[in-house]
Amino acid sequence: MTITTRYAVVGNPIAHSRSPFIHHAFAEQCGIALVYERLLAPKDGFAATISDFFAAGGKGLNITVPFKEEAFALCESRLSLRARIAGAVNTLWMEEDGLHGCNSDGLGLVNDIMRLGFAPEGKRILMVGAGGAARGCLLPLLQAGCHSLHVVNRTASRAEDLVTEFLQHCPEYRTQLSAGSLDSATGNWDIVINATSASLGAERIALPTLGFTPQSLAYDMMYGKQPTAFMLDAAQQGASVQADGLGMLVGQAAVSFEIWHGMLPRTEDVLDQLRHAL
Ligand code: NDP
Repeated sequence: MTITTRYAVVGNPIAHSRSPFIHHAFAEQCGIALVYERLLAPKDGFAATISDFFAAGGKGLNITVPFKEEAFALCESRLSLRARIAGAVNTLWMEEDGLHGCNSDGLGLVNDIMRLGFAPEGKRILMVGAGGAARGCLLPLLQAGCHSLHVVNRTASRAEDLVTEFLQHCPEYRTQLSAGSLDSATGNWDIVINATSASLGAERIALPTLGFTPQSLAYDMMYGKQPTAFMLDAAQQGASVQADGLGMLVGQAAVSFEIWHGMLPRTEDVLDQLRHAL
C-alpha cells in the first residue's frame, strides 16, 4: 500500500489559492509523493480545522488570510524567530511536543529579490507600508546584510511603532533600521519595496519623487496581469527594474517546502507557468 503524505493551505476564502499548483510542481521537481489540498476553515472554526487535519495524519499546513495571527497564537512558544517577529504564522507542522510555526513570507521576498539580481547585502532599502507584510520582511532583509532599511507609512506612527517593537526583539539592528512618514522617503534607494495594499485598489501612494540609484529595483508585493501603478511610477522615476510580488508568492512556498521536506526547490519554472496563467 502506498502512503501519500497530506499537506494543505487553510484560509477563508481559499478557492483562489495557487498553493496546490505550486507545491505539486515542487514535489514533482524533487521526486516527492504528496497530496496538497485547499481547506476552507469557518471563520470561527480555525483551531478545530487544524486539529482535525493533524489528527488525521496530515503533515503540514500553509495558512493564509485571515488566520495567520490565530495560527501564531496556537503555536504558543514553538515559534521560529521569524514568526515571533512577524507576529503571524503561514507554515505549520506537528512535532512530538506540539504544533510548530514559522513565517516564510519575508525569506520568500528576499530570495525573489536575489533571483532578480539584487542581493540586499550593502543596499539602501526603502519599505513603504507598515502592515503585516512589511512586519514579516524586516528581519530577513536585515539578516541579508542590507546597509539600511527605512520604513515609511501613510500613518507614520504605525511605522514608528513597528520599528520600535522590532528593535525590542533585535536591538543589534538599531543603526540600520529607521521609520518615518511618506515624506521622509527622500534620499537615494537601491531597492524600494511597496508593502502597502494601495495597488489592490489601483491607488497611488502619496510619496515624494523617489531617488533611485542607477542600478535599482522597485518591487511591488502585489501582483497581477498588468504592472501596478507603483511599478509604472517607479519606471518613470528611474528604477532600472520593476517587479511584482508573484515571485514572492512562489518564493514563500519554496521556503515552506524546505521546512517540511528539507529541500529548497527551484522557483523559475513554476513562476513562468503562473505568470502565463494570470
Ligand atoms: P495590511 O492591511 O496589514 O497593511 C496595509 C498597508 O497599506 C498599511 O501600511 C496602510 O497604511 C497601507 N496603505 C493602504 N492603502 C494605502 C494608500 N492608498 N496609500 C498609502 N498607504 C496605503 O496589509 P498587508 O501588510 O497584509 O499586505 C500588504 C500588501 O502586500 C497587499 O497588497 C498584499 O496583497 C501583499 N502581499 C503579498 C504577498 C506575496 O506573496 N506577494 C504576501 C503578503 C502580502 P496605513 O497604516 O496608513 O493604513
